[in-house]
Amino acid sequence: MMKRLSILGSTGSIGTQTLDVVRKNKQRFKVFALSANQNIDCLMRQIEEFSPEIVCVVDEAKADILSDKVRIDVEKGEKGLIRAAVASDVDTVVTSVVGNVGLQPTIKAILAGKTIALANKETLVAAGEIVMTMARKMGVPVIPIDSEHCAIHQCIGGVSMDRISRLIITASGGSFRDKSFAELLNVTISDALNHPTWSMGKKITIDSATLMNKGFEVIEAKHLFGLPLEKIETIMHPQSIVHSMVEFIDKNIIAQLGSADMRIPICYALNYPDRIDLDVPKFDFVGQKLEFREIDKGRFSALAYAYEACRIGGTMPAVLNSANDVAVLAFLDEKISFLDITRLVRDAMDTHKIIMTPDLDDIFATCKKTKEIVEKQILSMQP
Ligand code: MG
Repeated sequence: MMKRLSILGSTGSIGTQTLDVVRKNKQRFKVFALSANQNIDCLMRQIEEFSPEIVCVVDEAKADILSDKVRIDVEKGEKGLIRAAVASDVDTVVTSVVGNVGLQPTIKAILAGKTIALANKETLVAAGEIVMTMARKMGVPVIPIDSEHCAIHQCIGGVSMDRISRLIITASGGSFRDKSFAELLNVTISDALNHPTWSMGKKITIDSATLMNKGFEVIEAKHLFGLPLEKIETIMHPQSIVHSMVEFIDKNIIAQLGSADMRIPICYALNYPDRIDLDVPKFDFVGQKLEFREIDKGRFSALAYAYEACRIGGTMPAVLNSANDVAVLAFLDEKISFLDITRLVRDAMDTHKIIMTPDLDDIFATCKKTKEIVEKQILSMQP
């Protein structure tokens, strides 16, 4: 049977690679909905190739421009994203939008009973408790596309959680893994975007350089697999060959290995529990080295902040996420320096009044308020 997909964020890095997996397996997948934020040129080519039934552009002005160029109706804004997420003919929703905008459509998709192929980790960071409780209640599978979580998902297999002693999440270390704190003072955007092993979107590449991405992945793992934070560790592994590991209580460790090619975890998520042929180059072991080092949480403070926010709980992870969202955008707009990113996150966490058992409205309100506060602070930093 054909699986019908809704791809939220189809023109980004994960979106285009998802469509490549679909392209290689056209007999298995039907692209039902596509959505982009702004990149309507790329979206137009995708519409031509995949003939979706629903198209959405989040940026309303761009939606109008596209509307004049294509025969299909173009949905706009968050409302359009939600329509693409809940359409009755959709089986699986790939959530590959960037940042906080993924939260609302993912929740609506879960409530509509759709299987979630989750690439938008911000959703679980901001509202993991609520989202996973909802998914369990609805009986909706949430399959991670993130390479580390895809690895853990496979390593765990069917073993029950109380038989696991640790998850070991590997980190490439990002663009600046070998730089000292002093050297980070004057790094540029292009330095930060130059990731050593993975080719990804801009936001996540910056998050990898600060290691905030790894922090998000720790929080994501806690919610996805329902393990206490103390059992989730991170380790630097520069080669990005081991994508993560699981240690069981008898000290057996299972690791998942492979190329740094996101099409592999995407293919897993789209087909789970089945596996299909994927036509990508085979991994060549010959001449490969595997190194592991401790991560210096003093230098990569974002990772320490993420652990802290997760330990505190309540609305704090949502603050971490929102403040980081705004700060990374400001860095990419050349408004703040690289080290300002984590400094702004720290300030936002320090001034936040926590709500311990938030509902969704509290989470949304926290995200909105944090965004306003951090934007204001960035404005005050301008010369
Ligand atoms: Mg990852």
